[in-house]
Amino acid sequence: MPKNPFSEFNALLQAQRQRLRDEMRAKIAASGEGLGFANQSKITDDDALADAAAEMDLAMVIRESRELQDIEAALGRIAEGSYGACTGCGGDIGLARLKAYPAAERCLPCQEKYERLRGQVHMPRL
Ligand SMILES: [Zn+2]
Repeated sequence: MPKNPFSEFNALLQAQRQRLRDEMRAKIAASGEGLGFANQSKITDDDALADAAAEMDLAMVIRESRELQDIEAALGRIAEGSYGACTGCGGDIGLARLKAYPAAERCLPCQEKYERLRGQVHMPRL
């Protein structure tokens, strides 16, 4: 018997973390090249296109770095023994949900509530 019942998820999360890191490295390297192209294309009218492409890469990198943070947090919870418990209600997240999304920190009802609340937050206009 493994010491940690979530050692399987630990291995999975570490593999995901490695894959994301590799992807981000590749994207950053690629957008560096894209920047070079943007500079070269100053004579043409492709600047806007090159900028948009660079921004899309950046958005992708930001999204993946958030995913990476989720994964890091999940690995931390495995290490401290709180993995698998919902950070919202303290209940079990459930193996099916963890298998679908090992970095999940909330059970499905709490996640839905969280996303609904977050979607409804409107900053007052000053
Ligand atoms: Zn919950």
